[in-house]
Amino acid sequence: MSICYLDGNFLPRDEARISPMDRGFLFGDGGYEVIPVYGRKPFRLDEHLNRLSNTLAEIRLADPLERTAWVSIVNELVARNPWDDQSIYVHVSRGADRVRNHAFPVPTRPTVFLMSDPLARVPPALVASGVAAVSAVDTRWLRCDLKTTSLLANCLLRQQAVDQGCAETILFRDGFLTEGAASNIFVVREGVILAPPKSHLILPGITYDVVISLAAAHGQPCEVCEISEEEVRSADELWLTSSSKEVLAIIRLDDRPVGKGVPGPVCRAMYDRYQAFRDRESGHD
Ligand code: PLP
Repeated sequence: MSICYLDGNFLPRDEARISPMDRGFLFGDGGYEVIPVYGRKPFRLDEHLNRLSNTLAEIRLADPLERTAWVSIVNELVARNPWDDQSIYVHVSRGADRVRNHAFPVPTRPTVFLMSDPLARVPPALVASGVAAVSAVDTRWLRCDLKTTSLLANCLLRQQAVDQGCAETILFRDGFLTEGAASNIFVVREGVILAPPKSHLILPGITYDVVISLAAAHGQPCEVCEISEEEVRSADELWLTSSSKEVLAIIRLDDRPVGKGVPGPVCRAMYDRYQAFRDRESGHD
């Protein structure tokens, strides 16, 4: 049984109830985070809470909790659930109003909801084989830097991959790479890692930052720059990164092999470095 947190109480997830007038439900009006937990230790908790606080500030939703309260709720939720490795979902919506109205409720009483699931790790066989992806035009809004709960465009785009038996949809806007439907995308050309710059067009991934700092720490050439669709399609390697998928090679794009059609050496090295870094941070080495 999964225990969740809703507006001040810990309770079984099956028993949690919110109003149909909640703006998270009616408008997708809220922000969220997904935090991986290894051996009961949330990974990069500060970074995730910083990004949540930035999302809430940018969508003009006053953060309902102090940082210390966020940290203790997350830790208590982890302790109350049975799994050592968990995925913690954190959600803040603009709460319920008496009537459906686009304008913000006055006063606003945000809904705070957190839940836990066992962490779904990418199976080693999939890490070894890599995954296939499709591409699509990035049809999302212009604030993709915010982790908001309005995810319909991301859902539609990810479903295009699922419909074709693929793992991810790689997005292009005006002929340039943005990111995946639920991941950041890295390119390798002639031994150099290329990453799209942070802007309002991509989510500043927590894993993206770890990968870039690991590249710097290990003397691996890495450039943050605009990447054209053509550069993606002729890349030696492509990978996706996210808190749940970590570092995962993409070996086919739109039914054509990427590079040699197998996970490349730069991806494999980064995967190993990421695992080592994560274990170190989680106190497991
Ligand atoms: N980009 C999008 C659109 C995402 O939804 C995600 C994660 O869910 C990411 C990038 C990767 O972010 P992170 O590494 O913080 O999980």
